[in-house]
Amino acid sequence: MQPIKDHFGRVLKDLRISVIDQCNFRCTYCMPKEIFGKDHVFLSEKELLSFDEIIRLANIFADLGVEKIRITGGEPLMRRDLDKLIAELAKIPGINDIALTTNGVFLPKMSKKLKAAGLKRVNLSLDAIEDEVFKEINDKGVGTRSVLKGIEAAKEAGLQVKINMVVKKGMNESQILPMARYFKGKDIILRYIEFMDVGNHNGWDFNNVISKKDIIQMVDSEMPIEPAEENYYGEVASRYRYKDGEGEIGVISSVTDSFCGSCTRIRLSADGKLYTCLFASDGFDIREKMRNELTDAELEEVLTSLWGRRKDRYSEERSEEKRWNRKKIEMSYIGG
Ligand code: SAM
Ligand code: SF4
Ligand code: SF4
Repeated sequence: MQPIKDHFGRVLKDLRISVIDQCNFRCTYCMPKEIFGKDHVFLSEKELLSFDEIIRLANIFADLGVEKIRITGGEPLMRRDLDKLIAELAKIPGINDIALTTNGVFLPKMSKKLKAAGLKRVNLSLDAIEDEVFKEINDKGVGTRSVLKGIEAAKEAGLQVKINMVVKKGMNESQILPMARYFKGKDIILRYIEFMDVGNHNGWDFNNVISKKDIIQMVDSEMPIEPAEENYYGEVASRYRYKDGEGEIGVISSVTDSFCGSCTRIRLSADGKLYTCLFASDGFDIREKMRNELTDAELEEVLTSLWGRRKDRYSEERSEEKRWNRKKIEMSYIGG
């Protein structure tokens, strides 16, 4: 089958699946306690896509050209039996890469099972190496040790590990260099992420964004780096290698240097809505179509048409200041 293309000719290659909207952290920039407090209503068991539904959709997506799957959340390891889902996804012909984004706290318990199920890579989120700063960010008083243990467990299980660090002015710019120092030479790639205007509740302001250029300059001034080539078409992080050969870092610059032109990603929420952009206002309810007993062939047609209509290029539009303050879905719901 020919790969399917959107309005701008971008092919569909990656599927990001959010498996749960709950999380054990309350990161201030993602799930602020004031909004996601005791009264917040999360998705019910019935609303969540079942594993069978996710697997069915993933099979159809693979038919349409998807090769990579990323599992995310909320905190994906809070979804019971996640390893069983991964084991089934790993069997799908055409899917050659399965990765997981997690805050890492449950990895000591889960890493071996996940690896055995066919998981290859984990992206661990860690926004500070200093305990006090990290505790304040996750707002649950969890120290860095819990995450570092998760990193260790993942490495020991044979999973490839990358670290994601969201950088926000006033929150953790003090950690840019300490994080680089900590992970340099450890065979772990640290990726800095510009603070993005996802969702409606994280108080995003352009003045809180520390740009890719500033991050690079800061690291380079102490630990000289040079640009490295893309690993593959559409890679979201710009790569820089340490000149002394001690590994590399990456920067994901959705705000100051967007990459919509090569965006091959579609996102599936835990309750079965499809989003063709991280900054979309509305999703397409594929759960309703599945539960209304559309056949696989009919679903394939629906998805082909959805992708065919896709005109999203939000980050580019943001730079052109055309759209700025529209209603958006929450990061903890769609999973990044
Ligand atoms: N709970 C898991 C975790 O933290 O890795 C998976 C879900 S979390 C929503 C996925 C990623 O999105 C994390 O690396 C997190 O730091 C990032 N993120 C959340 N809000 C963000 C924002 N406003 N800008 C940039 N990245 C953000
Ligand atoms: Fe939870 Fe991840 Fe959001 Fe932090 S970034 S609140 S760990 S979903
Ligand atoms: Fe893709 Fe939307 Fe991000 Fe652009 S803004 S790279 S279209 S998800």
